[in-house]
Amino acid sequence: MTTTMKAAQISQPSGDWELVERVIPEPRAGQVRVKVEACGICHSDVFVKEGLWPGLAYPRVPGHEIAGHIDAVGDNVRAWRQGQRVGVGWHGGHCFVCAQCRRGDFAMCVHRKVTGCDFDGGYAEYMLARAETLAAIPDALPAEEAGPFMCAGVTVYNALRHSGARAGEVVAVLGIGGLGHLGVQYARQMGFATVAINRGNDREPLARQLGAHYYIDSLATDVVTALQKLGGARVILATAPNAQAISALVDGLSASGILVVPAAPAEPLTINVMSLISGRRSVAGWYSGTARDSQDTLEFSALTGVHPMIETYPLHRVADAYEHMHSGRVRFRVVLTIEG
Ligand SMILES: [Zn+2]
Ligand SMILES: [Zn+2]
Repeated sequence: MTTTMKAAQISQPSGDWELVERVIPEPRAGQVRVKVEACGICHSDVFVKEGLWPGLAYPRVPGHEIAGHIDAVGDNVRAWRQGQRVGVGWHGGHCFVCAQCRRGDFAMCVHRKVTGCDFDGGYAEYMLARAETLAAIPDALPAEEAGPFMCAGVTVYNALRHSGARAGEVVAVLGIGGLGHLGVQYARQMGFATVAINRGNDREPLARQLGAHYYIDSLATDVVTALQKLGGARVILATAPNAQAISALVDGLSASGILVVPAAPAEPLTINVMSLISGRRSVAGWYSGTARDSQDTLEFSALTGVHPMIETYPLHRVADAYEHMHSGRVRFRVVLTIEG
């Protein structure tokens, strides 16, 4: 076996992409080595590229939308075997001993690690992952589709299934992009009356194809009025990182409705608190999920035919791929494919 692998790394804040040869790492106790087949490029990879992640150590290989198979198994790993297809996502490990872990809420671990930020991720031929961060990939899912489910997918799937909305209630998705095009599909498949909201009408045919029962063009229509005509939204999943657009939506909620924000806009929200009080409404963030949540996402997606819309690039074109993702022209997720 060759002892080196190709990897794409960043060596300093705002540094260029470097394609390097690295020694293939050996799994330590509690870890497996994953032979990476595909790795999605997420907007959060900007944390590594621009040096925005606290405590970041360089050089760093980013990537937390990983799909591949187990290539080697370290000591004390009992539930996983060589050759198994696995995904690794944003959640890169937890401590098992803090107060949150003792309550079983591993995503909220105070010592949690993030794949591709706190340790090297999937922009490489191989990566190491802790066993508790592995999700089994169903046979029906190709690696390049499984990758984006490990961050974008699990985030919106988990946000929606924990939102409190019940079948038949109105769930609106703001923004038909990387997160939103998955949010519409999940909302439809979970049995919600699904509303897609986007600027302009060019994405209406796509939104309807993805399962939206209703489409609101926020340039042509007053979104709050349109939502209230439907009785108000029990849940609004705000995936467009636009503080002004998100803040305005509170009045489009039903009584006890929740505005869920899984991706942070640069500016603070400006919320009409009287509207929250009088309608007993709330605004909430959502944070990713654990490996089991990711596996639920993969299984639900395979079962119901939810697909990410992707554009693939080979690893050596990482610079072009990253640029394309940031251009906003991508429809809707960029995935690096790792040959060999
Ligand atoms: Zn991500
Ligand atoms: Zn913990």
